[in-house]
Amino acid sequence: MSDAVKSKSTLTKLNALTGNHQELWTGEYYNEGIGGQGGLFDKLNEECGVFGVFGHPDAASLSYYGLHALQHRGQESAGICTADKDNFNYHRGMGLAKEVFTNEMLAPLVGSNSIAHVRYSTAGESKLANAQPLIFKYREGDLALATNGNIDNAAIIRRNLEKQGSIFQTTSDTEVLAHLIARSKHDDIVEAVKDALGQVVGAYAFLILTKDKLIAALDPNGLRPFVIGKLGDAYLFASETCAFDAVGGTYLRDMNPGELVVLDRDGFHEDRFAEGGKRAVCAMEYIYFARPDSDIDTINVHSARKRMGKKLAMEAFMDADLVTGVPDSSISAAIGFAEQTGIPYELGLIKNRYTGRTFIQPSQELREQGVKMKLSAVRKVVEGKRVIMIDDSIVRGTTSLRIVNLLREAGATEVHVRITSPPFMNPCYYGIDTPNRKELIAAQKTVEEIRVAINADTLHFLSQEGMVEAMGEGAQGEASGYCMACFDNKYPTEIVDEAKIGCGCD
Ligand code: SF4
Repeated sequence: MSDAVKSKSTLTKLNALTGNHQELWTGEYYNEGIGGQGGLFDKLNEECGVFGVFGHPDAASLSYYGLHALQHRGQESAGICTADKDNFNYHRGMGLAKEVFTNEMLAPLVGSNSIAHVRYSTAGESKLANAQPLIFKYREGDLALATNGNIDNAAIIRRNLEKQGSIFQTTSDTEVLAHLIARSKHDDIVEAVKDALGQVVGAYAFLILTKDKLIAALDPNGLRPFVIGKLGDAYLFASETCAFDAVGGTYLRDMNPGELVVLDRDGFHEDRFAEGGKRAVCAMEYIYFARPDSDIDTINVHSARKRMGKKLAMEAFMDADLVTGVPDSSISAAIGFAEQTGIPYELGLIKNRYTGRTFIQPSQELREQGVKMKLSAVRKVVEGKRVIMIDDSIVRGTTSLRIVNLLREAGATEVHVRITSPPFMNPCYYGIDTPNRKELIAAQKTVEEIRVAINADTLHFLSQEGMVEAMGEGAQGEASGYCMACFDNKYPTEIVDEAKIGCGCD
């Protein structure tokens, strides 16, 4: 049982003893009590993070630190699987990496090759059976899989396989790939993986471990970030470069669209399972998801966000007393906006980092008093001031309304909202948890109507051209490109109807 689960049951017992019947809350908390809407954190959620090691005696410990660096990509579950000659050793649990793993848990995970995973469920339920890496018995031995992304045609493939007698252990779409590998006519695992990947459509970064091989694969459009690194003679794989920095590794290169990399005792082999075209990496990685110290396609995320802030300032200057960014993802852009305009950057909003997963939900009375769990305005900074508030995106609009109101309650005389992306109008089918179109405020209202809905004095979204220019500086060249479908409705793959029904969320 993971520590997170233990602490929840301990609190439940404590509640029973003390007669306290407040519910335990285990999700994100933004700022209950403001505006009386009681909604949760109205932000997009990243789908997962993967980390792999080949050829290092401390593979499990490196994986633990790698997962820790990737924790922002998923907080529901964490897992590590190592390969030790003929055996797989693994541990998975619900919660953060630090809750799932202790020294005692890591000690049995011997072996020099490993894959590891942090999960936010966009497909499949949030339960331990779906925690990755998923482990399977394959006719050639054991197989472990970890993925970041979404297989859009998973439901169709799954139904067909079930008709042919396949029995699924989980509701995760990653298991679909395992079945396709197992049913391939190829005995050679690399050929079987290629065969399986040729049948799936979607956005994915896969790590596959066998007793003597580590296989990495990126979807044919390169939608998800996926990088290769080195640590001495060992090879590393990660969703983001920040994980290499965490373990003292160095960045080698980004995986290419449609590429398959195989590591075995003969070394590092570059291969393909699909023709790779122009890359269409998710623009939201630069805008919001990735850590600022990560580089995607050699572009530093903090620098890209800062340029977005500068472009915003050029597109929609507004005289004010201070600029503030919504923590954490909009701080870089706010610094850029301030640099461009000469308006001072101030810490007008503070995030409480210690809310934690198991948190006693406030009573209705406390909510109405405006108990601020996750974000506070710094009264002495914003009181009597005209504030420019920089944020990365507006999804439903409920969060923006709360933050604007928070600043007004703290005494801001004007609140001008500047958003570092174009209006978010279309759902994502590539593993990002987005509401359906009806709930996306930008799909339903004009910019002026959104301004009114979020109670801002003025509102401006960064243009798509401005966003591309800001992201693109320093890009590798022709092969680099972006998916911007949630802004422009141009999806880089054909969208399977069933993915639309599920809006990519489940
Ligand atoms: S649709 Fe939007 S969130 Fe989804 S992959 Fe494309 S840019 Fe990213």
